[in-house]
Amino acid sequence: MKAAVIGAGMAGITIARQLRVQGMEVTLFDKSKGTGGRMSSRSWQGGWIDHGAPYFAARTEEFYSYLQARIPSTACQRWLARVQGIPNNDELVGYIGVPRNSSITRGLLGDLNFQPSTRIARLEREGQRWLLFNDGESLLGEWDMVVLSAPAPQTYALVRDIPEIAVQVKKAEMEPCWVAAVQLSLPLRKAAEVMIDPAPGLRRIVANSAKPGRNNDGVYLLQATADWTQEHLEGSPEQVGPKLCELFDQKFTPAKPPVLLFAHRWRYAFTKTALEKEFLWGRGLQIGICGDWCIGRTVEDAWISAMALGKRISEGIQ
Ligand SMILES: Cc1cc2nc3c(=O)[nH]c(=O)nc-3n(C[C@H](O)[C@H](O)[C@H](O)COP(=O)(O)OP(=O)(O)OC[C@H]3O[C@@H](n4cnc5c(N)ncnc54)[C@H](O)[C@@H]3O)c2cc1C
Repeated sequence: MKAAVIGAGMAGITIARQLRVQGMEVTLFDKSKGTGGRMSSRSWQGGWIDHGAPYFAARTEEFYSYLQARIPSTACQRWLARVQGIPNNDELVGYIGVPRNSSITRGLLGDLNFQPSTRIARLEREGQRWLLFNDGESLLGEWDMVVLSAPAPQTYALVRDIPEIAVQVKKAEMEPCWVAAVQLSLPLRKAAEVMIDPAPGLRRIVANSAKPGRNNDGVYLLQATADWTQEHLEGSPEQVGPKLCELFDQKFTPAKPPVLLFAHRWRYAFTKTALEKEFLWGRGLQIGICGDWCIGRTVEDAWISAMALGKRISEGIQ
């Protein structure tokens, strides 16, 4: 049995592994150059900056054990950061990848057949098979089963012609988030490594350089609030980055102003309204859907969703 999995974030890699364990021949696609999705990292001057999830929690014993059993303890470490402010459930500190957060998905990838830089633009059902096409309308191949793990709106674009699935996917809502990486000539003295609601417009500041292995000094990741992001949604990184920098500068007034390294807009950063179903399955169609937005908005939710779908497939859902 051949299965195609779309998306190489935590959910996609987890389900791909599950299907492989069940004996399927799996191909994993992602439009990005590497794995990680919203927990990916950028290389910067020989080091790393985590511009998606800066860290993640393992609130269930199962998730923690799963990672421990599959990723070397050097590549997935507990981060004992000092926190200032009151984090929401999706901001709880727990673990990080080392030297970068995408080391986690990279570690889980193993020798799975991974096709990076391949955006799936269209799916087509032909008889009992799924045909996948890329942006250039080239046929990539035929599969018996397809699993989608992209954020809800990107999943919707691929399933809009399957009414029973599309109507469900449409119920989930996601919200954007602007982030910026800045560097200070001297780290902030006495500041916590994670600051929640540190200044108007900023939801979180995380000391990237305080995480082991990042190989940079004085780098901070600024995460805008949902309202601030909405107000600046359609600005360019060149316009929005300096504004985020200003919010930081006004609050902390460092000796030298921070240097903006980059700004990035996550158009589908967080789940606003979850589906409240662990996964979706198209009866008789051999198509499955998983991802954080099925049940929540964390890395662990993405894993739980994928594991639940994998279990159901192993039990032989049709
Ligand atoms: C700024 C930020 C901060 C966050 N902070 C935290 C935190 O502190 N703790 C926490 O637990 N979570 C946090 N999160 C949320 C966390 O990152 C997500 O819950 C989790 O990574 C979702 O994993 P996923 O596999 O469901 O989706 P994703 O990681 O989004 O993976 C989906 C993948 O699908 C790919 N894709 C999409 N469309 C296509 C297509 N057509 N063809 C091919 N590939 C496609 C994408 O490139 C992506 O790699 C944060 C997210 C952001 C953006």
